[in-house]
Order: sequence, then structure tokens, then C-alpha cells
Amino acid sequence: MLHFTEALLPGGWARDVRIAFEGGLIAALETGTAPHPSDDRHAVGLPGVPNLHSHAFQRAMAGLAERRSAGPETFWSWRDVMYRFVAALTPEDVAAIAALAYMEMLEGGFTRVGEFHYLHHDPAGHRYADRAELAARIAAAADQTGIGLTLLPVFYAHGDFNAAPPSAAQRRFLHDIDGFASLLDAAQTAIAPLPDAVLGVAPHSLRAVTEDELAACVALAAGRPVHIHAAEQRREVEACVAATGARPIEYLLDRGMGAGWCAIHATHMTPTETSRLAASGAVAGVCPVTEANLGDGIFDGVSYRSQGGRYGVGTDSNILIGAADELRMLEYSQRLALQGRTMMAPAGQSTGRALLEAALAGGAAGLGVGGGLAVGASGDMVSLDAGHPALAGRSGDGWLDGWVFAADRAVDRVWRRGRAMVRGGRHVGRAAIVAAYAERIGRLMPG
Ligand SMILES: [Zn+2]
Repeated sequence: MLHFTEALLPGGWARDVRIAFEGGLIAALETGTAPHPSDDRHAVGLPGVPNLHSHAFQRAMAGLAERRSAGPETFWSWRDVMYRFVAALTPEDVAAIAALAYMEMLEGGFTRVGEFHYLHHDPAGHRYADRAELAARIAAAADQTGIGLTLLPVFYAHGDFNAAPPSAAQRRFLHDIDGFASLLDAAQTAIAPLPDAVLGVAPHSLRAVTEDELAACVALAAGRPVHIHAAEQRREVEACVAATGARPIEYLLDRGMGAGWCAIHATHMTPTETSRLAASGAVAGVCPVTEANLGDGIFDGVSYRSQGGRYGVGTDSNILIGAADELRMLEYSQRLALQGRTMMAPAGQSTGRALLEAALAGGAAGLGVGGGLAVGASGDMVSLDAGHPALAGRSGDGWLDGWVFAADRAVDRVWRRGRAMVRGGRHVGRAAIVAAYAERIGRLMPG
């Protein structure tokens, strides 16, 4: 069995925790038990963190859009770079890049990813023979690395509000509703070999779907998770108001967004929208590192969490991958905006603990799974490196504040369904995954 000096259980920290995995699940959990001589001993055990929002292929263009051109550099100019990059990707490229991204997620403390998967067709915009070809490549990368997968096939039909025609650069993303329903069936088949994959539905954004198409997507979800990009950019909010008379979050709440939904970004909200979203039961999928990289803006975090709003974190563009990085950036964005400290923690609580527990609960709800260390739960765990100088002499919440704010890389071991996929901070398949990625990436680099 595993033995942890301290572990974070649903009721808080416990000491001398022994855990056994069986069939991918936690089969036994004892507290206050001294280690047995044969136990595999670790200092601190945590539940694995859910990553609510990823576009895996974007990992390969991380850092390629940091050069200033003559014109203004915004989210929209970044998107042009991304569209040029996406045009050339083959199924083999997608598999190799996703494996790299998922390996890095595990190394960064994530044990499940919500893949917001919008790249569906070949470079000419035609369906592959298997319409879920690229979804199958995502599933293969999840299988290879061991990460849990909530696959969110994306419905994308238009280039902007008012059902504007899509651009040529968007041809690999497009469906009508009937084609999308067929894609969902094929995607369900693609993920079937994975032991605990979940299928959800992702209308891309209010730019890409009409009101009727949004309703059709929700109907197709049939109770499964619904994820949508919303209110990431001011220009998007202004265009939404011009086209519909409502702001994006307001529009979605008026159409039933609530429990079972994940609003990705939700960056630009009025105080009323913040209050309504917090009360709705929906999860805000905040992606602080990407939002900082893209210059999106700052989530209304303090007001939202003080009203009981649910949130989790996502790595989105995968410019940098790590659970602690997202939690730290979320907190720091609030400090910079509001000129205070310990902003995301309720009075008397540790900030690292408050951030982590919100991300665990919101992430699990958003990805359609359970969470927490308890008998019967998935064997998804992270241990921290107690030998890291930033963690020396710590205990309890001190581990989390040290990990989130003071350590560079402090994840030691990561178990997924009871298997140790990361040891000493490195994925067990790292060499082969990096080699396969390196072999493919040269062709994709701009000349
Ligand atoms: Zn996104």
C-alpha cells in the first residue's frame, strides 16, 4: 500500500494515511495508521487536479506568436497565427502534440483534461473517412499518457455573430447539426476503449453558433457536460450586444445556462452577470495563464467566489502547463487588479488551499466526474516533493501555499487510476513522447 504522512481528504488534512488501489479505484483508505515496512512511503498526497479546458494542438505553437508585427497585437492577431498553424496539421501531428501536452499536464499535477476539440476535418476541409479521426488521435494520446479524458467535440458553424459565413481558415472546424450529431456518435466510439472517458458537447462560442444551433447542441448533450467559450474579449462582448441586445454571459444565463454547464473564460462580466453566474450552478472555466498571454482581461474572481460561484482552471492554449501555474496566476491577477493580497481565500484560510479545493470541486463538476480521495473514487493522486526547498519544514496548508506560490516544479509522483505515470516529476514515457514530438515538429515550424 501507499503511505502518506499527510493527505488532503474531503474533510481536510489527515495524518498517516494508507491507500490501496485496485481496478483503477481507491479500494482502501485508512487514517492514523503507522506505515508498514512494505509500504511505498510519501510525505504529502493530494487529489489530482482537473484541467477544464485544453486545445492540445496549440501546445506546438506555444511561443510562436510573441514577435511584434507592425499592427496592433491582440487575441485576434494571435488567432491568425493559430489558423495558419492549424492548416497544416496531420492526424499523426495531432496525436504526437497531444501526447506531449498530456504528458506535461500529468507532470504538472493534472490527472484529467477537458479537451475542447474543434479540429475535425482534413486540411482541405473535407471529412476524414472516419469522421472522428482526429478525436481518435486525442483518445490515443490520452491512452498513451494515461490522463483521464473528457472529450468535448466542438460545434462550429459560423464566422461571427448574425450567422456570418465562416472564413476559409475555419474550414477544418465546421459542421451542420446533423453532421455534428454523427460526429458525437463517432467520437463516443473513439473514446470507448478508454476506461473512464466522458463525452460532452461544446458549442464553440456565440460567434460560431446561432440561437437555434445552441439549443440543438444542448439537446444533443442530453445531460452531459456543455462547455462554451464566453466573454473572453471586449470586442466579442460588444459584437454580442450589437447582434443580440445582450452580453454573452447574460445571453447564456437567459437561455438556461446553469448546473452541468462550463462557461470558459467568463472574463468580461458586469456585477449583475457575476452574481447571476455565481448563483446559476454553472462552473466558470478560468484559464489565467492563457488569458494573461493573450491579453484577454481579468476574471471578476473575488466578487464571484465571495458569492459562492464555482470555478476551475484550464490550460487552454497550453502556452505553459501546470496546475500550480494556473492557480498562482489566478490569484496574482486579482492582487494586481485590486491591490490587495490573499484575494481568493475566505477569511482565515490559506490561499493555496482555497484555490486548490475550488479547482478540484469545480473541475470535477465541469468534466462530469467525481473527485476527492475516498474509497470508490478514481485512483488519481499527486504527491509533492517534500525535498523541494520551498516545501522544507511545511505541513498541512503550508504544503499547498509552498507549492502554488514558492516552488518551481514540486510535483513528485502522479498516479492515474492507481498507476504511477509520473515518478520524480517525470512521466514514465517521457523519452519516447518527446522523441515522437520532435520528429514531427520540424515540418510545422514557420520558415
Ligand atoms: Zn479555448
